[in-house]
Formats: sequence, C-alpha cells, structure tokens
Amino acid sequence: ATAVTNGVIIDWLARFHDIVAKQRAYLTELDSAIGDADHGVNMDRGLAQVVAMLDQPADGSDASTGALLERIGNALLTSLGGAPGPLYSALFLGAGAAAGERTRLDPAELADSLRAGLAELVRRGSAESGDKTMFDALDPAVQALQKAADDGAGLGPATAAAAAAAVAGREATAPMLARKGRASYLGERSIGHVDPGAASATMLVIALVEAVAQ
Ligand code: ADP
Ligand code: MG
Ligand code: MG
Repeated sequence: ATAVTNGVIIDWLARFHDIVAKQRAYLTELDSAIGDADHGVNMDRGLAQVVAMLDQPADGSDASTGALLERIGNALLTSLGGAPGPLYSALFLGAGAAAGERTRLDPAELADSLRAGLAELVRRGSAESGDKTMFDALDPAVQALQKAADDGAGLGPATAAAAAAAVAGREATAPMLARKGRASYLGERSIGHVDPGAASATMLVIALVEAVAQ
C-alpha cells in the first residue's frame, strides 16, 4: 500500500492480535518479572474482542479513516483491561481525531495522526521518556516515522524505520527504573527487565509494517 486506508487499518488490528496471541506467553513472562503476570492474557483477550467488533458489517460510520480509528479507540476502551486499556484507547482516539475526514493517510499524515494519538496517551498516563513504559517504544517509533516521511520515504520504508526504532526503544527499557504503573512499585527491582507494554507496543508497530506490505 502507498497510503493507509481503512482496509489497511482493519488488517493492522487483526495482525496485531495475531502477533500478541502468538507471543502471549512471552508478554506474560515479561509481566511476571515486574508486574502481575497478566499482560499476555489481557492483550490477547482484549484485542480478540476488538477484532471481532471490527469484523461486524460496516454500519456506514467508517466513512473516514478518522471515524474508523475512533471506533477502534472506543472498542479498546470497553474491551481491553488493566492499565493499557485507556492508554491504547487514547492512542487511537487521538489519532482518529487528527485524521479527521481523510479517507487515506500518506506517510506524513500517518505520522501526524500517530503523534496526536501519542499526545493523548501521554495526557492520559503522563508517561515521560525513560519511565519504562509503552511510551519508550512508541515515541521513538513515531519520531522515526516522522523523519522518514520528512525525507520523502514511502509507506513501506517509513513504517519499517518506525518498527526498528520501536525495537530499539523496547530493548532500551531493560536497564530503566520503572516510574509508572505496577512495575514502579518494585523500585530498583524493576531494573534489568524489558517492559511488557513496550514489548506489546512494538508488536503494534510491527503489525503496521505487515499490514502496509499487503
Ligand atoms: P496492569 O499493569 O494493569 O496489570 P498490563 O500488565 O496489561 O496492565 O500492562 C502493563 C503495562 O502498562 C506496563 O508494562 C506499561 O508499559 C504500561 N503502563 C502502565 N502505566 C502506564 C502509564 N502511566 N503510561 C504508559 N504506559 C503505562
Ligand atoms: Mg499486568
Ligand atoms: Mg493487571
């Protein structure tokens, strides 16, 4: 695809769920080290419901990319539990509000939309860089996407750059001291483990690369 259409977005969510379902044990293992061992099951169960909702026959409300992203944001809020529910929801609601009436997003528009979504996520959870959260994977990803778009990259290379940045951001959470969420209760004992939310957020970006490649 050269632009993100509603078809790409629906495929994106389905692929996100597929990856999470396959990596469910890994996500739970990460959360058992610094949390309550439910991130894998939480994400798998919540995303399965969201994908099922997206499969329902179109009711005409998805005329625009913004409307679909907002529908996903609302579905995440009702379906996804724990800390990530309102956070991933805010990401999609903010992205949808920014995408507005457009019916396709080129790389620069995608970057703008996701940057707005990330701002919503931060407004919701007040995570900053280095707090050891999903933000530490998503923020570098959106920055890399933006830079690639500014450099004139197509959607494939631009999303691939975002995924590489997300992977690096995820790995960089290991030495961090957690300052948000459950892991923050562990203090120094949170050091030395990859953040579960940074791992699932990286899967979100990898799923986008896959959806765009179709
Ligand atoms: P819970 O902590 O409620 O059991 P999960 O285990 O599903 O929920 O998700 C934990 C993840 O949520 C963490 O690894 C972290 O990335 C993310 N998280 C928690 N609080 C915040 C926050 N305030 N901002 C951003 N991400 C957060
Ligand atoms: Mg947990
Ligand atoms: Mg929990």
